[in-house]
Amino acid sequence: RMASSEKDAALAATPSDAPTIFDKIINKEIPSKVVYEDEKVLAFRDISPQAPTHIIIIPKVKDGLTGLSKAEERHIEILGYLLYVAKLVAKQEGLDDGFRIVINDGPKGCQSVYHLHIHLVGGRQMNWPPG
Ligand code: 5GP
Repeated sequence: RMASSEKDAALAATPSDAPTIFDKIINKEIPSKVVYEDEKVLAFRDISPQAPTHIIIIPKVKDGLTGLSKAEERHIEILGYLLYVAKLVAKQEGLDDGFRIVINDGPKGCQSVYHLHIHLVGGRQMNWPPG
């Protein structure tokens, strides 16, 4: 996909339940730098890091969870677990002075991959408000 920015990528993405590039990362069909893995969750370094540490944390089974806006009661456990893994990975990465968790949702939230994911960013001073 040709995209000049993260926003362009998000606006070009079609929200759908179809498999995404993250399935290929889960299946190791395409390489990624995995920093954490267990039976439920995979965490890997973002290919286009926005901070010294930028990690994507995803459920291995999407189960309709293309984005947070599609969450149902059956997803409550995995949603909590993803946040807990984010904390574990932040610790593992040495982000002891703070970090940022982001979940982009939909075109206006700049979501470009329709498989729920948490961004963990850190290693520099974050700003607020976000862009
Ligand atoms: P979103 O924009 O949907 O919130 O986040 C998707 C993220 O996935 C982006 O930050 C993008 O850089 C990252 N990404 C997209 N494709 C790949 C890939 O093939 N490998 C890795 N490691 N990250 C990817």
